This record gives sequence, structure tokens and C-alpha cells, in this order.
Amino acid sequence: MREVAQEERSGLGLNDHEPLDPYALAREHGIPVYTLSDLRDHDLEPDALDHFHGASTSSWSAALIPFDTARIIVENDAHSLVRRRSNIAHELGHHLLEHSFDNVILGEDHKRQFDTHQEKQAKFMSGELLIPDKAARRAAYDNWDNAQVARAFAVSEQFAQMRMYGARVIAERAAKKFGISR
Ligand SMILES: [Zn+2]
Repeated sequence: MREVAQEERSGLGLNDHEPLDPYALAREHGIPVYTLSDLRDHDLEPDALDHFHGASTSSWSAALIPFDTARIIVENDAHSLVRRRSNIAHELGHHLLEHSFDNVILGEDHKRQFDTHQEKQAKFMSGELLIPDKAARRAAYDNWDNAQVARAFAVSEQFAQMRMYGARVIAERAAKKFGISR
């Protein structure tokens, strides 16, 4: 999976330390991204809007939706841009890993979900796409805090924390091993 993310990043001409634009990646794959506001402007049936919104507007993030062989992404633009970027990267993760829609279930709150395993994979992919492993390790060795990582890769501080946790453990261990004080 890591290799898939790496290939996608180099396809966009990015090195390991540059932020990725998930919207550009969606374009690369011919996947149009619509916001809920877009859909509203196009007079989508209120029922359909409700469907996307699910029970709570605030929690709904985005969905990859199949139309025959084509794919589109609908995203909730009520979220902050950093959150939207990771939502799109997550949905692209499902696409890049070619997750089948056969097992997609509609949850009780009308959210589309792949199975737990596939959700974990998509989460992993969004992490690798937005902050590659190498970049996370570099940042950990350089003692960057979550805010610095978040700024450099245009992600939320929570997302940065999620990506940095493992890298920091590794950096900490290496520092101990070589007797470097941090
Ligand atoms: Zn998902």
C-alpha cells in the first residue's frame, strides 16, 4: 500500500516532503469532486441531500460513489479545509486500493461504509498520501511538534498526531540507542 501512495505522489511530481493536493490527485484519476453546496446549487432533491447529510451534518465527511464504471466523490464542505483534504485522501484511498462496492453497507445513519478492514486500509492510505513515512520520520528526528507538521502538510493537528505517533517512538528509541539527548 505504501508503494501505491508513493507512486501517486511521484505521479504528481512531489518529493516526500511536499504537501499533496488531494483535489489534484482526484483530477489525475478523472474523479470529479462535488461539495454538498454544489449539489444544493444544482437543485438536488431535498431527500437526496438528506441522504448525503445523514443524521448529523457535522459528522458526515465524504463518500466515493460509483456510477457504472465512473466514480465521483461528494464531500461535506462544512468542514475545515484541512479536514476536507484528509476526507478526500481517505476516499481516494478506497479508490486506489480498488475496494469493491459489493460489500458497501448503508449504516443506520445512512453513511456508506466499506468493511472495517477496508476502512483501516483507506485510513492508512490517506496517511501515506498526505504525510509519507519518510517525512514523518524526518519530522520526528527534527523534533517537530504537531502544529509544525500540520502546517507543512496542510493537515489538522490531530491528523499530524496520528501520523507522528509511530515515527516519534522510532526517533525516541534511536536517540536512546545512540545516547543523544532530546
Ligand atoms: Zn472509508
